Amino acid sequence: MTSSKAHVVVLGGNFAGLASAQKIREYAGDAVDITVIDRNPYLLFIPNIPGEVFEGRDPAATLKMDTSRALTEAQATFVQGEVRAINPDTRTIDFTPKEREGAPSETLGYDYLVVAFGCRLAYDKIPGFAPYAHAASDTYYGNKLRKALFGGGYKGGPIAIGSARFHQGTAVKDLVPMADAACEGPPVEIMMSMATWLKNHGLGGPDKITVFTPGKMIAEDAGRQVVTSLLDIASQMGFHYRNNIGDIAEVTHDGIRFTQGDALDAELKILLPDWVPHPFMKGLPICDEEGFVVTDMLMRNPKYPEILACGDAAAVTVPKLGAIGHQESEIVGKQIAHDLGRVGEAAASEPLKPLVYCIGDMGDNQAFYIRSNSWYGGDTQVLKIGRVPYLLKMQYKDLFFRTQGKVPPWGLDAAQFLAERLFAA
Ligand SMILES: Cc1cc2nc3c(=O)[nH]c(=O)nc-3n(C[C@H](O)[C@H](O)[C@H](O)COP(=O)(O)OP(=O)(O)OC[C@H]3O[C@@H](n4cnc5c(N)ncnc54)[C@H](O)[C@@H]3O)c2cc1C
Repeated sequence: MTSSKAHVVVLGGNFAGLASAQKIREYAGDAVDITVIDRNPYLLFIPNIPGEVFEGRDPAATLKMDTSRALTEAQATFVQGEVRAINPDTRTIDFTPKEREGAPSETLGYDYLVVAFGCRLAYDKIPGFAPYAHAASDTYYGNKLRKALFGGGYKGGPIAIGSARFHQGTAVKDLVPMADAACEGPPVEIMMSMATWLKNHGLGGPDKITVFTPGKMIAEDAGRQVVTSLLDIASQMGFHYRNNIGDIAEVTHDGIRFTQGDALDAELKILLPDWVPHPFMKGLPICDEEGFVVTDMLMRNPKYPEILACGDAAAVTVPKLGAIGHQESEIVGKQIAHDLGRVGEAAASEPLKPLVYCIGDMGDNQAFYIRSNSWYGGDTQVLKIGRVPYLLKMQYKDLFFRTQGKVPPWGLDAAQFLAERLFAA
């Protein structure tokens, strides 16, 4: 870069990366050049994959948003590349251009680095996953599950849904609680949608489904009151529930074996894996012992303050939720803009106050809505179930695509108002 402007390199262009680039441009204006690097030239709207699968739609056709327009609007340069290394001491990153095979490694310098390239969803750590298990976290696995459901592969036997154990680093344990599973909204959403699918296809109901968790309580981060209410509803409906079950040791044709000796018989196994940092992160001076980027609640690394992190890659993002990454991107934008004299001290020093915000599809145009911060010591625990949360989930995605990810604050506020005050039961 020959420009005298500060060069901000953003690693990742999905929820956290795109939002960070947009917020940095919004707050820092023309004080920065921005480069965004992602291996894919599109954003994948992951939270809606289960809903598309259970409706029999191809998520690859409905949930990808070309990021080029959004990044052009943010006056950011997009590089389609595979990031291979971060070198904090030389303020460079190494990447391989990805548009064509055969490109040699390149090195790019930065003044600020925003690490927003999420995690690996480590299905490859679960023995037996590929031949015997399913998932709904990307379009490949979503379509594989859709084919099993709608193509006659699933014959109506018992179903197990749950998460592998999460391995959280300890460096930020004084800032956020320790989690046993990375993200347990999806298993709750999938169990509800699965029951509706069984009913609508004449194959039974909730009593065929066991939902399990390695934790003391599933989705504990949503707040005890909220989860207790959800579990009461689920148990009245006939779902089976297993907690403290340990990690997944192995998936076989007939079920799942767990590390603490338990086993579940299941024809269909729909799993969430461990969320694991990219392998080249482990051992970096900016990371905890697992490879998550250590930050304070202003999203800055304490040893290298020019390195910020946002979204699933950040150690303080627990649970791994896009909604928390969205809150963090605002802070990232203000922090960089503050350094460059574009945002005042008071606005820039508002720290992250994580809020679990989750709308889970239940099938039949119903959804549950959770807004809670009690896991972090706050006093908000809201649970609503009904048709309006479902409409909000669909509307939010449409609004996100229409605004190229720049969901106006009124979008979120209106969603909260509608879900909590006006309609939902
Ligand atoms: C089934 C499911 C349902 C979910 N539902 C919800 C929900 O309802 N609400 C919610 O808030 N959250 C939900 N989540 C969690 C949410 O999807 C994640 O928290 C969110 O996607 C994290 O955003 P991110 O940008 O940090 O990372 P990601 O979305 O993982 O994006 C990372 C980006 O970095 C790129 N990348 C990665 N490595 C490299 C590399 N080495 N080089 C170049 N590019 C790279 C990837 O291509 C990708 O574009 C759900 C997750 C799942 C699996």
